[in-house]
Amino acid sequence: AGCSVCFRRNVCSSPSRLQNCMSAWVIDQYGTNGVLKYTEEVAIPTVSSTSEVMIKVHAASLNPLDIAMRGGYGAKLLKLRRDPLSVMDTVSEFPLILGRDVSGVVVDCGSDVTHFAPGDEVWAAVPPWKQGSLAEFVTLTEYEVSHKPKLLNHTEAASIPYVANTALSALVNAGGLCRDNSSDKRVLIIGGSGGVGTFSIQLLKAWGAHVTVTCSQNAEGLVRGLGAEEVVDYTTGDAAEQLQVMEKFDVILDSVGRETEQWAVGLLKPWCGAKYVTLATPLLLNTDSMGLLDGAFNAVFSLQAKAIQSIISSGAFYRWGFYAPDGPGLDEISKLVDAGKILPVVEAQFPFTQVPQAFQKLEQGHARGKTVVRVA
Ligand code: NDP
Repeated sequence: AGCSVCFRRNVCSSPSRLQNCMSAWVIDQYGTNGVLKYTEEVAIPTVSSTSEVMIKVHAASLNPLDIAMRGGYGAKLLKLRRDPLSVMDTVSEFPLILGRDVSGVVVDCGSDVTHFAPGDEVWAAVPPWKQGSLAEFVTLTEYEVSHKPKLLNHTEAASIPYVANTALSALVNAGGLCRDNSSDKRVLIIGGSGGVGTFSIQLLKAWGAHVTVTCSQNAEGLVRGLGAEEVVDYTTGDAAEQLQVMEKFDVILDSVGRETEQWAVGLLKPWCGAKYVTLATPLLLNTDSMGLLDGAFNAVFSLQAKAIQSIISSGAFYRWGFYAPDGPGLDEISKLVDAGKILPVVEAQFPFTQVPQAFQKLEQGHARGKTVVRVA
């Protein structure tokens, strides 16, 4: 085991701290902001498998998922993913540590880890089924971790991994885009001003795509500055009407969902393999409310029905986009950042003592980029 003060394994010279414990923000139950609790008595997540990397967290950032998970979103499916054999038991997921982004320094590695060594500066998106980054240390598998861009400090770097892994998974796996095929593509991002939107605009511009976004009027300067060519203000008038008069799109990334889904598919180029990818997926909500089997069946059934309807009516694909852990993907993003093609968009920063305030900021909505927590 390692010490959170001296970082030495099995040796601790600090009398002021409980050996093998670290500080973290945890929840012991689901609820509103009041359930967030600071403690210095969480066990340090030491390396327990040969492929793991233990990271000293310097900065973390918040995503809408953290607010949702604080309230119990996805609890059933995530519990199954954490521990498939004990889902029927009473094994508790608490104390649960939230926070999905990390930028920090490697302090320990399993014996099979080849790409990282203690002292390396790294960044990663922590999968929601693992203990999060609002803590002094986080431990991940090597595949989930990547070397941090050299141009960014930890606060800037922590603003990128989760939205980057989400955008990569949605645009590449579901949207069929990549660096080599995007230059002649017209892409619409519904919801361009938040974390996913501000990152996706820059990634698509780096790949040469033509980017249109919807956002509030007061975010127009931000999204144009990041490279968006056409901007539709959804707060004045009907966004669908404004978009319908434009040339149609090859790919739509929808980070808003709900009513946008009703009109967005009709904006795709017909009969040429165009794709609508939504991040507003019902899977976790359904498994929470209907149980694992019924919820998953219901969600997949609705996905299939929409996909079939979309193919029959216009030859377009209807797909879900998901965050997926992808360290090698972050390696590619790191190169784009160091080449000056992707900038961090940090809207707000909070010290580790003010994690509840950081959650409050995020809950107010209207994000313009990311909210970061400085941990070390
Ligand atoms: P943010 O909170 O960072 O950003 C949301 C943005 O959307 C805000 O800038 C908001 O600004 C804007 N917005 C709200 N309503 C509309 C609208 N009708 N049209 C256009 N813009 C709008 O969220 P993220 O970017 O991090 O995530 C976006 C969504 O994607 C979230 O719902 C999140 O849960 C989901 N997501 C899903 C993932 C998955 O695995 N399926 C992974 C990651 C994210 P304003 O209100 O001022 O317009």
